[in-house]
Amino acid sequence: MYIGDFFKKRQPVVSFEIFPPKQTSSFESIVTTTKQLSLLKPDFISITYGAGGSTQRNTLEIAEYIKKTYAIETLAHLTCISNTTQEIEAILDDLQSRGVKNILAMRGDLPAEAPPLTTPVYAKQLIAQIKKRQQFFIAAAAYPEGHIECSSLEQDILYLKEKVAAGAELLISQIFFENQLLYAFMDKLQQANINVALSAGIMPVFSLPQIQRITSLCGATIPAKLQVLLDKYADKPQDLEQAGLEYAQQQISDLCAQKIQGIHIYTMNKPHLAEEIVKNTGLRK
Ligand code: FAD
Repeated sequence: MYIGDFFKKRQPVVSFEIFPPKQTSSFESIVTTTKQLSLLKPDFISITYGAGGSTQRNTLEIAEYIKKTYAIETLAHLTCISNTTQEIEAILDDLQSRGVKNILAMRGDLPAEAPPLTTPVYAKQLIAQIKKRQQFFIAAAAYPEGHIECSSLEQDILYLKEKVAAGAELLISQIFFENQLLYAFMDKLQQANINVALSAGIMPVFSLPQIQRITSLCGATIPAKLQVLLDKYADKPQDLEQAGLEYAQQQISDLCAQKIQGIHIYTMNKPHLAEEIVKNTGLRK
């Protein structure tokens, strides 16, 4: 099934994001994670694609495994920065043979040790390549505060429009910790005539190193009200996890009250966090 169909049936569409284990040998850990997540009955589960394709095979295997084992639709992340178009064709063949119908198509980032590109690469090229096949539903990444490399949010939105023109039919947002930023972003999308569905990416904060690492990578703003919690519970990991959960739940309740089309939970492979959120926000009744 194409995940675009979920958005026509009921909203918010609920999705979870997981990442593959780094070693194929630990496939068992993802079996446990996905089993617990499946009990929460998400509309779909997305599986990230490692930097430079490092977890590529696992991504495809897990996407197929979830679909076949739990009958839950999957969205396979795919990046193009480290692959030739021929390699991408082979990956698309593989996805198709595994019955995976939905792709989150991104440029990705170069691994730290890789030499710089001689010619720039953008997600819209990957989207256009996938679109040619007419076999996949395509989603793209969106950045409520602008992508970290882009000079302005306005410019980034113009590039986002190119991704939609190339064939993206759903946008999944980068994490954000201030809903007003997302609402302002949605207004800008409307002004730019970008009318595809948007799913809001929510990540529960559960540790200081986690939030420091992720915000340094993506540039998401930490609002004062969240910083207060981070300072207050800096030395109390359990209390910080609880406060992070409550913060994420408040964000989701407010988003639902504003009739958001989709909630995409970055589970960080911690099903108990997703479970608490789903239970306490009534995302699944
Ligand atoms: P693009 O849309 O190509 O944009 C990249 C940069 O180029 C931006 O600064 C943009 O403004 C600029 N740009 C775009 N078009 C042009 C143009 N025509 N001319 C000049 N500049 C242009 N990464 C992974 O490696 N694996 C994952 O699984 C993964 N999952 C993600 C899931 C979500 C929901 C999100 C939001 C991000 C995810 N990422 C993942 C991170 C993503 O790969 C990085 O943010 C990456 O730096 C940008 O990818 P993109 O597809 O948004 O790039």
